[in-house]
Amino acid sequence: MGKLQSVTALAASIALVAGISGSTNAAPASVGDDGIGDPYFPKYGNGGYRVAHYGIDVTYHPKSRRLVGNTVVRARAKQRLTRFNLDLLVRAKRVRVNGKRVRFRQSKHELVIRPRHAIRRGKRFRVRVAYAGEPGSIRWHGRTAFKTNPRLALAAGQPNVAPWWFPSNDHPSDKARYAIDLTVPTGRQAISNGRLAGRVRHGSMTTWRWRPRKPMATYLAFATFGDYRIRRGRTQGGQPYLYAVEKHIGRKTDRAAWRSLRATGRVTRFLAKRWGRYPYGQIGGVVTRRFTTALENQTRPVYDASFFHNLKRPANTSIIAHEMAHQWFGDAVAIRRWRNIWLNEGYATYSAWMWSQRLGRNTVKQLFHYNYKRPASAKYWRFKVADPGPRRLFHDAVYTRGAMTLHALRRTIGSKDFFALSRRWVHRNNGIGSEREYRRLAEHISGKDLDRFFHRWVHARHKPKL
Ligand SMILES: [Zn+2]
Repeated sequence: MGKLQSVTALAASIALVAGISGSTNAAPASVGDDGIGDPYFPKYGNGGYRVAHYGIDVTYHPKSRRLVGNTVVRARAKQRLTRFNLDLLVRAKRVRVNGKRVRFRQSKHELVIRPRHAIRRGKRFRVRVAYAGEPGSIRWHGRTAFKTNPRLALAAGQPNVAPWWFPSNDHPSDKARYAIDLTVPTGRQAISNGRLAGRVRHGSMTTWRWRPRKPMATYLAFATFGDYRIRRGRTQGGQPYLYAVEKHIGRKTDRAAWRSLRATGRVTRFLAKRWGRYPYGQIGGVVTRRFTTALENQTRPVYDASFFHNLKRPANTSIIAHEMAHQWFGDAVAIRRWRNIWLNEGYATYSAWMWSQRLGRNTVKQLFHYNYKRPASAKYWRFKVADPGPRRLFHDAVYTRGAMTLHALRRTIGSKDFFALSRRWVHRNNGIGSEREYRRLAEHISGKDLDRFFHRWVHARHKPKL
């Protein structure tokens, strides 16, 4: 996520999530837990199974702001299941398991499903959920991740957004593959992740078929419906791109937005030289007025138009560098628990610092010292970056102390080992990692004991000495 001006608003809304009660799991062994076990957000995700694939089919009616969905979740049981949950806020109408209608109940965020027969451990199963509602009017823990106005709707958010538009096992530690079909009135646009495989018109409605190729965390799947100008093509390096800017955002903002988006190819090439091959087959970006910040949706970050208002320069490529860096850090390698967020934001911030230096502006060293010079008494140093708590997930210190940690690590183990570590980290086999795993990899590559290093930089509640 990009920080800049609007993150405080988001942080404030996230803070409300902090009050969730723990999961209520004195359940029998054949019942899937109602949470995946992340202490920050006990109800996020579920226990008892892993998802392999989401087949999402959603129709959005801008006039009534209604969403009608039909999603097929293909999963594999990790245990015997007589009951299991999916995360969904929109009202479920019908649920089928392996083709058969089943009983279910729904209490706000949890859709509790009882298959007719217990699902055996290790078995694959298929859940089809039909649902409908007005997701823009659903607030959960003080916020909605589905933003609407009469012309546009946007489903995007961190740490969660999926429950507003499709049933899921909503946690980054359960990545899956996707096929996303979005239907809107003909003449409107519907944008999501990955490749646009085609558009099918049926009367007054048109279906946009999106096919992201690689596994993806649920919060990185996004959808937007509305009035966009879309440009597709290939960069000079041959990378397919798809950029979109909401219509009528003002002439100057529109021009700056396009200039910034068009830098995405250049930024991506720069980052690939440091972090290894770009992980996906598509690049892109979407600019809208319906968001308050920026978010690294896989292959297609979304940027609020305010990032491109009243610029002193012709474009804002710093935010592009930040969100594109997340394609490696956060997207290709997702975090196992939300408290590991500093790894994502640290790398994204550090990448934007390197991009700044590349443009001949502030150097990495200058940016490091600019942040480091805060007095030791500042609140900024007074919490664990490696465990900031759900209220501080997007705190400025998570970003900049994260980036300083990476720079200090680079100074400690040397650039060669640091970049080797970073590349290996991105291309982990399962695409998920925790700080402990990162530290182990750093120690393995450098041959150094880094316990004290990580303690001083991300676990201590005071300013580290240089
Ligand atoms: Zn970020």
